[in-house]
Amino acid sequence: MLKFSTVIPKRGYSTHALKSFAVPNLPPRQKNLIGLTLNELQQELSAVPGAKPYTAKQIWSFLYRHGYRDFDLMSNIPKSVIANLKKHYEINYGEIKLDKMSTDGTRKFLIGYDTKAHPSHIIESVIIPETKRATLCLSSQIGCSLACTFCHTGTQKLQRSLTAAEVVGQYMIAAHSQTDFPLDATTRRSLSNLVFMGQGEPLYNWKNTAKAVSILTHPDGLCIPKRKITISTSGVAPLIPKLASELGVALAISLHATRDETRNQIVPLNKTYSIAVVLDACKQYVRLLGKSAKRITFEYVMLRDVNDSTTEARELVKLLKEIPSHVNLIPWNPWPGSMYQTSTNEQIDKFADIVMNGNIPCTLYVLPWLTNFFIARYHGCLWTA
Ligand code: SF4
Repeated sequence: MLKFSTVIPKRGYSTHALKSFAVPNLPPRQKNLIGLTLNELQQELSAVPGAKPYTAKQIWSFLYRHGYRDFDLMSNIPKSVIANLKKHYEINYGEIKLDKMSTDGTRKFLIGYDTKAHPSHIIESVIIPETKRATLCLSSQIGCSLACTFCHTGTQKLQRSLTAAEVVGQYMIAAHSQTDFPLDATTRRSLSNLVFMGQGEPLYNWKNTAKAVSILTHPDGLCIPKRKITISTSGVAPLIPKLASELGVALAISLHATRDETRNQIVPLNKTYSIAVVLDACKQYVRLLGKSAKRITFEYVMLRDVNDSTTEARELVKLLKEIPSHVNLIPWNPWPGSMYQTSTNEQIDKFADIVMNGNIPCTLYVLPWLTNFFIARYHGCLWTA
């Protein structure tokens, strides 16, 4: 146990005064270094004998620029410090339970957390390849509490929110799989975009999501540009402006309807934050980001005879006319026991034409429908099986 009180002469100092100068103790059990901010890492290392004030920055670089998972690779750290690090700390990304690649290159990971004690604590993250880059779809919770009726994840009860370490760990696993480490200025990383569109509502896990974003974007570490990170929400309106003022990341809204009575059924959170309230929060988000604001992505899953009429397409154009928007139309992906049907291709085309004629860029996502995979690209698409 290393305490400041052990090296300061006691005469003239009250116990109360000494307490405020105490440095942290070494953790009794191995503590994960992944998920700590650089400040927290500096704080931790102040308890490690032999560690210098600059050691934390060196380790930060080994963790996130080099992607080292082994303390022994950290070449310029004194051996005595490494011995203490190995005793008291670990570098843990989570347990890879499955790593499966489809024929189109889409790669799915099932990642578990302390599954001996909690066998169902497993989430999914997915790498979606594109022509010159790849996007990683991250989960923020195990299960979800919001029970959107079109969403397969919504049938999995919320077990808990992920920690910042568990969010960052998903990226580390994926980036290693793409051989993106070591990161340097000359090599282009292949995993270039991150979307919080997997299991869970990221804004219901604000603290850990925000902390994970600060680690993912740290300039001396992973240094992912904020504009390359998109957080998707089903409409937690009070926190949407904070995505601009505190995180500066891109925004996606899981909208899926143009009328409150329809959205109340599809996205029950709408009963708390109506469409008007959510869109007002989006306008604040745009104002706060000013010129650096990217278009907000509005996800719209196409459900036959529920939300896919041409009238609703016109209503969508009207609703979004004051917001820089991009609409993603998503043919719905059926899952066992669900109450919906996919819109016809003809209806999706008509809907898309109206949106584009309203001067809103519109993308149609055809989902990779893969053997044993449930992979989609909209909020809450992921099912852990
Ligand atoms: S769409 Fe998102 S918020 Fe809704 S149930 Fe699925 S994971 Fe949860």
